[in-house]
Amino acid sequence: MQLQLQTWVEVEAYLRSSRGIILPIGSTEQHGPIGLIGTDAICAEVIARGVGEAAGALVAPTIAVGMAQHHLGFAGSMTLRPSTLIAVLRDMVESLVGHGFERFYFINGHGGNIATVTAAFSEIYAARSLPAGANVQPVVKCRLRNWWQNREVLQLAKELYGDAEGSHATPSEVAVTQFAYPDAIKSAPFDPPVAPSGEYTDAADYRRNFPDGRIGSNPGLATPEAGRRLYDAAVAALTKDYLSWVFGSRALPEMNNGIAVNCSSFPRKLVKKYRRPRSRHRRDSGGLGQVIAIAGFPCAEMTGCAVSGSSRQFFHTSKAGIQGLQYQHLPGPPLSRLLLG
Ligand SMILES: [Zn+2]
Repeated sequence: MQLQLQTWVEVEAYLRSSRGIILPIGSTEQHGPIGLIGTDAICAEVIARGVGEAAGALVAPTIAVGMAQHHLGFAGSMTLRPSTLIAVLRDMVESLVGHGFERFYFINGHGGNIATVTAAFSEIYAARSLPAGANVQPVVKCRLRNWWQNREVLQLAKELYGDAEGSHATPSEVAVTQFAYPDAIKSAPFDPPVAPSGEYTDAADYRRNFPDGRIGSNPGLATPEAGRRLYDAAVAALTKDYLSWVFGSRALPEMNNGIAVNCSSFPRKLVKKYRRPRSRHRRDSGGLGQVIAIAGFPCAEMTGCAVSGSSRQFFHTSKAGIQGLQYQHLPGPPLSRLLLG
């Protein structure tokens, strides 16, 4: 759910069921001979929107220009100074804190942003700690997650590209942009196929060391099909992480890695009729409802959740029967708060 496509009335309603928001942050910088200037922003944006759909979470406008001073030797690259980016992030977060948001989940597409975003979090926390006797409510928490740094994506990238993944203009990030924008796929010869690796300081130093812009990578291996797989892996991993962070660590352990939230957003073909449960939990289920299969997520046991018409509650079911995990579905935006029964 994009924040930009909601009304203020809808955002107020959302805040009654969730205090979390996802903020995609990327960069506008060269990505070698075939990588789009917007690669980092595009990856963060499409993955954040996927997580937002799966988790029923609001997604803020993408912060598309990041800290990329070292890329300024290449045409089209743009940067914010670290101090500017910190100020931007602080103002964005504090705007939303004023409305009741408390959990700010940044999905990042650019390694060069990490230090600055982390510093911005410290500035946000410092502003809440410094006033004498500060006991600021509510508690504001920020989390930074790089879309490519989770077990699922790292494993897949290694399997797909091995050492040719490199660290800048990687085939993985180029593949995700190819999946997102197939009409913008480019090609060019690479010499050498895998670029050199090393260190850099400022823009001139970077261009000297890495003349075509790549570091350690062969983006010529990218395909949109691989991009789709990387996208799916990132969305699954980050959705799980987001939900457990926003709704509490108790929310997920019983779910066997399944994601059963925001059931109303699952594709219609996945919604099947639910048969009356046989277990002693029948009383709780409210009788006939629907099962919403949980597809696209690694899930060994979980088969769905039952919707009981009157109480608007969801129940986690598995091969072993209903587990007692319960979701409360509030009116308004698609999902809501997780409650363990
Ligand atoms: Zn990048």
